[in-house]
Amino acid sequence: MPEGDSLFRAARSLHRVLAGHAVTKFETAYAHLDRVNVDTPVVGRSIERCESAGKHLLIVFSGDLILRTHMRMNGSWHLYRHGERWWRGPQAMRVRLDTADWVAVAFDVPVAEFVTKKQLETRDPVAQLGPDLLGHEFDRDEAIRRIIVSAARPIAMTLLDQRIVAGIGNVYKSEVLFLSSVHPEVPSSAVPLPTLERMMDIARGLLQDNVLDGTSPRIQTYRNLRQLNPASEHEESLWVYGRKGKPCRKCGTPIESKKMGLDARTTYWCPSCQTIR
Ligand SMILES: [Zn+2]
Repeated sequence: MPEGDSLFRAARSLHRVLAGHAVTKFETAYAHLDRVNVDTPVVGRSIERCESAGKHLLIVFSGDLILRTHMRMNGSWHLYRHGERWWRGPQAMRVRLDTADWVAVAFDVPVAEFVTKKQLETRDPVAQLGPDLLGHEFDRDEAIRRIIVSAARPIAMTLLDQRIVAGIGNVYKSEVLFLSSVHPEVPSSAVPLPTLERMMDIARGLLQDNVLDGTSPRIQTYRNLRQLNPASEHEESLWVYGRKGKPCRKCGTPIESKKMGLDARTTYWCPSCQTIR
């Protein structure tokens, strides 16, 4: 699952090159999108903006039409110049949007739909997202309130729930817990309030740090970053994630790991440093 920051970066890259430009071509492998396109053509509309809302990427067109995509595990958006070779073959293409200068391609996005502004605000999953860690005005108190009402659920699972707080993926989950000294299995309501406040500040800081350095218009999800360069500095800079059995960078104790939750995502932690439980 891409972290909130990589989606934020993807949205920003798309926004930088697409916003204010007219759509010159629209193609999709999804019949439900194609049907909307036939009824209310996308070609000719201008792209007003591209933004992320939690794990959703929104492309807002003129005339009250919004394309909402969700990357889940394998989806990604890429930008190309006309004629440039694609990273994936055309069979992985789900949505293609052209402007005069750019081609934006969504590969393997499992969720894509057209909605109106009103639908987005009411029935759409975006409306159910918790406070967005990368939002201009992150509502920390509301995020903490939602964490506390998660009661007995382990904090590691609560942090991944986008309805509680939007933006944390599996990597940052482990990192944030380590940096907050909190054991991943502690019940959500048992984490002391000052610790939750610190945890939210750390999560916001980590996500913000990772969006600030993205200056090129290439889209990098965490996933393709690792594929391109498996031993990337990004990987090297992690405290616990992916480091099972290796010595803790603070105390030397071997890092432990465990699959937690319905879809069994692996959580990593240091048993000596993460004492709040
Ligand atoms: Zn340690």
